[in-house]
Amino acid sequence: MIALSLHHVSRTFAQNPRPAVDDLSLDLPAGQILALVGPSGCGKTTTLRLIAGLECPDRGKIFINGRLMASSLVFVPPERRGVGMVFQDHALFPHLTVFDNVAFGLRGKPRTQVRQTVHAMLEMVGLQALAGRYPHALSGGERQRVALARALAPRPVLVLMDEPFSSLDADMRLEMREQVRGILKEMGATVVFVTHDQEEALFMGDRLAVFREGRMEQLGTPEEIFHASTSRFVAEFMGDSDFLPGSVVHEGIHTPLGVIAQPLSLPAGTPVEIALRADDVDFVPDGQNGNAVIVERFFRGAFHVYRLRLESGEVLHAFKEHTLVLPAGMRVRARISAEHPLIVF
Ligand code: ADP
Ligand code: MG
Repeated sequence: MIALSLHHVSRTFAQNPRPAVDDLSLDLPAGQILALVGPSGCGKTTTLRLIAGLECPDRGKIFINGRLMASSLVFVPPERRGVGMVFQDHALFPHLTVFDNVAFGLRGKPRTQVRQTVHAMLEMVGLQALAGRYPHALSGGERQRVALARALAPRPVLVLMDEPFSSLDADMRLEMREQVRGILKEMGATVVFVTHDQEEALFMGDRLAVFREGRMEQLGTPEEIFHASTSRFVAEFMGDSDFLPGSVVHEGIHTPLGVIAQPLSLPAGTPVEIALRADDVDFVPDGQNGNAVIVERFFRGAFHVYRLRLESGEVLHAFKEHTLVLPAGMRVRARISAEHPLIVF
């Protein structure tokens, strides 16, 4: 079943002629986590606010569980959309205990049911022991879990999360990612999860929607987005890629690092770009026949990353184990080690 459906949704703000969200269409099946990712200002928050009913689209239609929520004729207010929200600042009520914060969305329900639901939620997020505490006496991660329990308690049809971990420190962020994904999956929740962090999106999403300037640039599984980016923008944003110019020749693709045997059904001479990540490139010291120079070396824990400048002028990054430490200025012979590097157009 499709839990959320957007049909050609657009939203432009008065002060800004460029649409914040531009002709967005997508379907989200029930039980899936969609990670919406892109650089700052690309329209992620506006998309969530449109789904929540905190903004009205200029054009297009929004359906939740098959029910029309917004169009040029219809507007269902946020409290009647069955949507739970978790934001960056976790906005708990400071004067309410953890228990009462989680119970907030259950007002009007019988008291025993409220108690049961709140306890079940607190158990799920591992905070039963803190039910009587006030938000100021919680850590950032605990507050975020309370916010999640509060959003999930009314059993929303759809959960919307906007950069929920960005106020946590790096360690806590990694831990919360795993916990929260586990909880959402256990609940079978349908989720739109917004982040500007590529790694977080790859981790959290069953599918990713990569945004650029208000438009969806690519929609796919984490593997598709990472290994089969359809544009230079996605390859660059998602995978820290470098790019080499190439052109189609009979045997494959001609590049400054030789010919890649990857036949494309394109006329000879067609220009393409080859996206290369640091593990797609290898090099060995070679004073005589080198085609590159080591510019800089960076320590990265288990390995080093080298920045190389090719004779043809391009800059590439490559990994090497510690066992071999090479100095800047050394002439090397670089080659593409990936069998099928990503080609973008
Ligand atoms: P993101 O969450 O991806 O960083 P936003 O959805 O917040 O992006 O913003 C998308 C674009 O819309 C930005 O250019 C932003 O400045 C603009 N924008 C967002 N909200 C408003 C608003 N209320 N009024 C005017 N412009 C806005
Ligand atoms: Mg935002």
